[in-house]
Amino acid sequence: MKKNLDTICIHGGWKPRKGEPQQLPIYQSTTFRYETSEQMAKLFDLEEEGYFYTRLANPTVDAVAKKIAALEGGVGCVLTSSGQAANFYAVFNICQAGDHFITSNNIYGGTFNLFGVTMKKLGIECTFVDPDWSDERIEQEFRPNTKCFFGETISNPGGNVFDIERFARMAHRHGVPLIVDNTFATPINCRPFEWGADIVTHSTTKYMDGHATQVGGAVVDSGNFDWDNCQHIGEALPPTEEAGKEAFPGLCEPDESYHGLTYTKAFGKMAYTTKLVAQLMRDLGSIPSPQNAFLLNLGLETLHLRVARHCENAQKVAEWLEQNPRVAWVNYAGLPSNKYHALAQKYMPNGLCGVIAFGLKGTREDAIRFMDNLDFISIVTHVADARTCVLHPASHTHRQLSDEQLREAGVAPDLVRLSVGIESVDDILADLQQAMEKA
Ligand code: PLP
Repeated sequence: MKKNLDTICIHGGWKPRKGEPQQLPIYQSTTFRYETSEQMAKLFDLEEEGYFYTRLANPTVDAVAKKIAALEGGVGCVLTSSGQAANFYAVFNICQAGDHFITSNNIYGGTFNLFGVTMKKLGIECTFVDPDWSDERIEQEFRPNTKCFFGETISNPGGNVFDIERFARMAHRHGVPLIVDNTFATPINCRPFEWGADIVTHSTTKYMDGHATQVGGAVVDSGNFDWDNCQHIGEALPPTEEAGKEAFPGLCEPDESYHGLTYTKAFGKMAYTTKLVAQLMRDLGSIPSPQNAFLLNLGLETLHLRVARHCENAQKVAEWLEQNPRVAWVNYAGLPSNKYHALAQKYMPNGLCGVIAFGLKGTREDAIRFMDNLDFISIVTHVADARTCVLHPASHTHRQLSDEQLREAGVAPDLVRLSVGIESVDDILADLQQAMEKA
């Protein structure tokens, strides 16, 4: 039976049978027992499905991965130990030394560093493009060895909305998949596969968990990218120079570490997901613990309720900030005055997320005084939590930089990142008001 997202949040991934626990059990075991060595051998040869070692698969972790796959409408999902690992695996599963990929330049700082610095050390080059450039300008950056395009549905911390449909078409014109980090929007507000994205990633640390209890990530595959023919299934695009160039040998050619098995031939639409587990998890091992997967699942059970409340509260707070004489500027795509409002309405008509960026009039010191005078709104580096929290990059994550250096890094010295929680919005506004009066 086809289910709505609210029902999947609660029931997805785990269906207890007679006498089994109603709540998803924590299979806190590294390994699983078999009765004959042949049974075990078939698992190692990927001939049969089953559990043998938690680095590769665990029933608790798998149940939660299935729930996230269902929420996104994907064919497969792999949970990772962090959002960083998810973004690394999503790209590294199809890129190797000598390859290149393109990303929107306004992505989360950790991902920016991963792509621009660390992956470069592995021989994988990344070009950062401004999504506001014209198609023509961006398409100049595609090369014969380009393997994917990457962007965030809602960028952290800027709050810019990524034009998924436009970039999916562009990526597909060049025979490569579009990978979208859907952390801030969550599948409750946006399902990138419905707009042509091929792979979705998450930092599940954020709204999916929502209670600041576990660090985790997820990679979801739509199953819609035809790796052998370098095209999005069903999209009738004229063949490109890149098509048929054997762009994805890791998926389309025999894997010697698996007895010459070819993932696309053996697993069809599950090729990308199977390779990610069988190769990357086997060799790099960034698995979440069963305990963390359990905690994530508790968060997912109320995702649909929390996300709606985050958005309702954030919209009211953004409108209040925009009218506030102490505030210099507000960036929230839910505001009609925002540059990305039309895109926000197209992709996320039911709401965006709880994260707002704004600038307080005055100096860096005024922003610090405002933050120090907050009552229950807490200063943390985290976002997307049930509790309202705040961060001032100029005095925290980027504190070593001068105002000029900050501007060069694209961070306004007065930028305050406010992650609106699910408390009473009246109390959130009252706390902001009293702290501003003391700043
Ligand atoms: N992607 C986005 C959009 C993020 O905001 C973050 C972290 O803030 C990450 C990925 C990295 O996730 P994690 O902190 O779980 O490694």
